[in-house]
Amino acid sequence: MKDISTIIKPNILSMNPYSSARDEYTGHDGVFLDANENPHPFDYARYPDPYQQDLKNRISAIRKVAVKNIFLGNGSDEIIDLLIRCTCQAGDRILTLDPSYGMYKVSAAINDITIDLAPLDTQFTVKEKQFFQKLNAHHKLIFICSPNNPNGGIVSKTFVEKLLQQASGLVVIDEAYIDFSDESGFLPWIDKYKNLVVLQTFSKSWAAAGLRIGMAFTAEWLVAILNKVKPPYNISAPTQQLALERLNDMSKLEASITAIKLEREVLKIALSKLPVVEKIFPSEANFLLVRFQDADSVMAYLLEQKIIVRNRSTQHNCQNTLRISVGTKQENLLLINKLKEYNNG
Ligand SMILES: *Cc1c(COP(=O)(O)O)cnc(C)c1O
Repeated sequence: MKDISTIIKPNILSMNPYSSARDEYTGHDGVFLDANENPHPFDYARYPDPYQQDLKNRISAIRKVAVKNIFLGNGSDEIIDLLIRCTCQAGDRILTLDPSYGMYKVSAAINDITIDLAPLDTQFTVKEKQFFQKLNAHHKLIFICSPNNPNGGIVSKTFVEKLLQQASGLVVIDEAYIDFSDESGFLPWIDKYKNLVVLQTFSKSWAAAGLRIGMAFTAEWLVAILNKVKPPYNISAPTQQLALERLNDMSKLEASITAIKLEREVLKIALSKLPVVEKIFPSEANFLLVRFQDADSVMAYLLEQKIIVRNRSTQHNCQNTLRISVGTKQENLLLINKLKEYNNG
């Protein structure tokens, strides 16, 4: 990895962060006359912990990553934006796979940064030779989604290792769906590679998309940079509290993840028996990318039945595909039954 001063924008390196009232005293008890709050009794009269210590302690225990290596954002989407704002200035670029998660492109566009796309092959495998031909010193960020949205496949460890060694910028592995995979992810690598960022989220396996919490696991130096740039109170007090409650019963949560993985296989088998289905791509996530003879027509029909899936047909190599989330047993059954009727009709 290159010197961090070449990855992070000079203005970010040199700026002084907002000093929040709660930076000077971290105790819970005291007479707080420092933040201009109204002391009127109300659960949320006070500003939240800007560094979310209690929540990070809990996440640290679950993910076995030190608290100093954890950064929390208002969803992964906030972290994606913060990473771009910390690293990319005019002339810098971002590299990602195609197809992949749409927010990399959107966030790049908002920040006026060019994003280069390295196409996946028809089976959604990385074309490594092409990828490394594209990779250059202007790429301050490389976003790799694994398991990848929209197909559900994972990238190989050897590819990521080579990328970490060759990249001039930060390598961001988006593991939003890793808990649905039988493969282990890249968390164990963050100590070794100081340019690695692993993104995870409360929104998928942890069944808390409404809370808006994304997690970045990365080297301490980068956590410090992200802390400088984030809005001081980016995770609200009720969100921190509800997130802690969410993680109280991990065994229940893990059981539901196991159930979804099982349902994914049941759904896959049921779909594969339908003549209208052409292909189902291998998935290590909680969705299936399914190719139909006429995806637009199936999509329109399902919408009429008030079953909402995601049409991915316009994405690279995704002609005639719908991305279907694995729902409850009942929801999946309803989908299959409706598709059988479509088939008959
Ligand atoms: C759903 C998803 C996320 C989650 O984003 P949040 O802002 O944390 O809800 C992140 N990355 C990918 C690839 C996703 O599909």
